[in-house]
Amino acid sequence: MDTTGEIRPLACWQGMDRVIDEVLPSTTIILTSGGCSWNRCLMCQYRHERYTGADKENISQLMLRQLSYIEKNLDCQKTPLIKLYTSGSFFDPAEVPQDVCDAVASQFHGKCMVIESRIDYTDIDRITRFVEILDDGTHAIPLFLALGLETSSDEIREKCIDKGVTFDAYQKTADLLHDHGLGVKSYLLHKPPYLTEKEAYDDMIQSISDIAPFSEMISMNPCSVQRNTHVEKLWKAGYYRPPYLWSIIEVLHAAKPHLLCDPLAGGRARGPHNCGTCDPVLLDGIRDYALTADRELLLSLRQVQCTCHEEWEYVMEHEKPYNMPLTS
Ligand code: SF4
Ligand SMILES: [Zn+2]
Repeated sequence: MDTTGEIRPLACWQGMDRVIDEVLPSTTIILTSGGCSWNRCLMCQYRHERYTGADKENISQLMLRQLSYIEKNLDCQKTPLIKLYTSGSFFDPAEVPQDVCDAVASQFHGKCMVIESRIDYTDIDRITRFVEILDDGTHAIPLFLALGLETSSDEIREKCIDKGVTFDAYQKTADLLHDHGLGVKSYLLHKPPYLTEKEAYDDMIQSISDIAPFSEMISMNPCSVQRNTHVEKLWKAGYYRPPYLWSIIEVLHAAKPHLLCDPLAGGRARGPHNCGTCDPVLLDGIRDYALTADRELLLSLRQVQCTCHEEWEYVMEHEKPYNMPLTS
């Protein structure tokens, strides 16, 4: 095996992203790592993306070679924002060795970064060391920790997601990060399994209002059916349907803070979808709204006429709990 060449990361691309009130050119990177230590959320396929059987030294080499790929193949000079994901937790020492953390901070010195880590892997000493290397004073907030809370309900998080963290721990972590001058980007999961369309809607509305005081940014991720997951088993048996795009638009509209939202697999049976006819225009609108925060656009999306709107209204009113979807 070549132990020196570059390795292409799991994914990397450049585009535009909203950070609080600014829209910035961004580079998004997903690195293959040692893998998520928790490894059990019911909807998650990413946890299967890992270097299986590699020891720490090997993982370190393999990850550093992905950083070399970025260095050689992407022009990050032009993107002040870097979003970094690992299909797990960047600040989990079992997943990402310390020398890789240091290398990332120094490669992106002077950038604003958004980095995902589970709430239980937010050791402040490790994060502070990272920021000391990363920060050159350019950005008021040089690092946003992306925290997957999914819902503010401990019951739903435990029974429907198996996330293994608590709302209390999230609040304490957010406070600690803010005390250190860092930002919080919170992730919510819209419609985990076992909830009706209406229960899922109510859960998002409640969660957004609960977490708004702790978050500079909130990203709402509509649940999709990923391969080799518990959600996929339920879906194949007819016990799960991803949320309607109408529900997403209603949540975006009802929420006081602006929400980021990029519906994965949108318009497909495995992703959030409506009838198929109105999906493309609504998906484009949702993505545009996430970037621009244009409330007028949101109002116009609510006015879109399609026969499936009545179907959605019926489902919202009549779908019964205990996971019996009325449509597929
Ligand atoms: S959602 Fe995150 S914490 Fe849960 S298994 Fe997947 S990678 Fe791990
Ligand atoms: Zn429709």
